Amino acid sequence: MRSLPRPSRLEAPLGLKGRSAEAAATLGLATVGDLLEHLPDRHLDRREGRQLASLSPGEEATVGVVVKDVTSRPMRRRSGVRVEARVADDSGPALAIWFNQPWVARQLAPGANVLLRGAVKQRNEFHVREWESFEGADAAVHTQGLVAMYPAAHGISKRLLRELAQRAREGVRDVPEPLPAGLRVAERLPERSAALAGAHFPTADAEFEAARRRLAFEELLLLELALGRRRRVRHAARRATPLELGGELVEPWRARLPFELTGEQRLAVEEVDRDLAGEHAMQRLLMGEVGSGKTVVALHAMLRAVETGRQAALMAPTETLAEQHLATLDRLLGGLVPIALLTGSTPAARRRELLGRLESGELALLVGTHALIEAPVRFRDLALTVIDEEHRFGVRQRDALAAKAPEGRTPHLLHLTATPIPRTLELTSYGDLETTALRELPSGRRPVETHVVSGERARARAYERIREEIARGRQCFVVCPLVEESEALQARAATVEAERLRETEFRDHRLALVHGQLPSHEKATAMREFASGSADVLVATSVIEVGIDVPNATVMVIEEAERYGLSQLHQLRGRVGRGAHGGVCILFGDAKLPRLAAIAAESDGFRLAEIDLELRGAGEVLGTRQSGLPRLKFATLPEDEELLVLARAWAERLLEDDERLEAAEHVLLREAVDARFAVESEERPDGLELVDSPSG
Ligand code: ADP
Ligand code: MG
Repeated sequence: MRSLPRPSRLEAPLGLKGRSAEAAATLGLATVGDLLEHLPDRHLDRREGRQLASLSPGEEATVGVVVKDVTSRPMRRRSGVRVEARVADDSGPALAIWFNQPWVARQLAPGANVLLRGAVKQRNEFHVREWESFEGADAAVHTQGLVAMYPAAHGISKRLLRELAQRAREGVRDVPEPLPAGLRVAERLPERSAALAGAHFPTADAEFEAARRRLAFEELLLLELALGRRRRVRHAARRATPLELGGELVEPWRARLPFELTGEQRLAVEEVDRDLAGEHAMQRLLMGEVGSGKTVVALHAMLRAVETGRQAALMAPTETLAEQHLATLDRLLGGLVPIALLTGSTPAARRRELLGRLESGELALLVGTHALIEAPVRFRDLALTVIDEEHRFGVRQRDALAAKAPEGRTPHLLHLTATPIPRTLELTSYGDLETTALRELPSGRRPVETHVVSGERARARAYERIREEIARGRQCFVVCPLVEESEALQARAATVEAERLRETEFRDHRLALVHGQLPSHEKATAMREFASGSADVLVATSVIEVGIDVPNATVMVIEEAERYGLSQLHQLRGRVGRGAHGGVCILFGDAKLPRLAAIAAESDGFRLAEIDLELRGAGEVLGTRQSGLPRLKFATLPEDEELLVLARAWAERLLEDDERLEAAEHVLLREAVDARFAVESEERPDGLELVDSPSG
């Protein structure tokens, strides 16, 4: 690949030594080019040089003054020191005051020029919040116009960064332009060099934001191009068997369903059909809350495989979930096609029989757990896999299932998830998957009434409310605090809480306990007791997050709710209000905590996922998944989501015409993509990870 020599002005070192050079390195700053990409996060407006005499009491402002003399004295009422300096500008004198910063006295000398930010409190008293000294020729840089405020670090001040930026200013002219002219004109984007100049040295407020926006767009475009190119390479490599959409099985099945598909389900089914008819394997993520009707869509896809004489498998993360899927699928199939369950607890004889029918192709549909990926499981012609709760499976497990397809072919893959993924993440870390969302619930479930409460009185009222519900024949979950460090501790706490409730609040009721440390038959017994209505209260750890469906349960109590994440709380809450009786969720915790305030106010899971992202920031949310969003210099997510959407659209358009970015007008763009986002190509087959390239 041809590579342009980088112009020398951008390669030039910053000329720092010793500690400031080290400090600059912590900010990733070694060259003039680096510095030009280190943008200020704001500017101080010094265009109207304020004069001391013009300030009204309480008004915050920045003034440039000369120091006359400095004294330091104990504060009168409190212990501490105040430093006082008599200062003056052209409009007159003032007394500048620093509280509890005795060192300031040593840093100020009579005759020094200083810039003070603060407020006039009483006549002539200026209380200082921030200050800098400036001398000589550079003074204007720190005191006039829009003064850049750079992200600084210990050992390298904003002031030094400002001076370095001034010195680097000329380098802007050497900055190459990676964006094709057509794109820049269409989106009315300034040139890269102009944008860098505008971000560092704006002359008007709007200039800075326009400049930052241009740079952020470019950065997101490079990211989307990197993702898009890789998506295409992967896609081409995943050869599948195109499924002819005959309809001889699917049509009658659809006609016999006891309900009409919702509009969203119909769209989802059409998208799936389009994917399945293609030469390359489907990679689709179907997201929708519990009860949104994902299973019908999945079954539609599975039947397409069966229709063409092939096989389909659904893999779920737990036995309980696999059993539930089997029950739902069985009901929806109405005996049309045989289906079987394979888990770790399938008895050996049954298992042998199943495997035989699977290998002969007689059995076309299989549901199961990890047991599906074990070596003895052989399909005759596996064409489609459905994976539930995709994030609970590792890449290796997904690949192991995919490897069950005939030699040289990749099965179509449909992921199901009840955790909605905000658009920002969909367009970044999930860049490899196409997505379909089911937002409405076909049953039109009522939102669960949610209260966040604390204190003994509220707790007593909550238990009272639960007893009322039980008296009406309803049931209740009590979810014990999450203990991240130890499942054993969590189990112990749940056991203690169950004992307490049995002896106090629910003395007259039937109570069951379930936690992760119980042997599986005891777990199953407790779940069965609750599901059948022979227990009124189920005390549980977060294990109930997954897969329990008791429509008669109407109340959920969550202890120490602040220990749970927003999406977990939403998932837990989804366990109640599934029947005709509505639902109540009582969270013990601080109602002022933003996360808890959000869950109380919002019932839409997609909206909550977005709030979660806003509260935690993209990096944090991604950190909890297997993938990493590369560090961004100019863009901030999810705040710049609108730019991200635009960048994706442009990336797709560019790659559509020139998949490898080989055209002359795309050469610099391609180099910028490669330089900025080095892609780990074949290491991670799920392709969710991008890494930062080393600088330069
Ligand atoms: P999910 O897998 O998304 O949690 P399911 O597919 O299990 O949801 O559907 C939840 C319930 O809603 C099931 O009982 C299913 O039969 C029913 N259902 C699905 N689609 C519809 C629809 N279009 N109209 C009415 N009921 C539906
Ligand atoms: Mg389901």
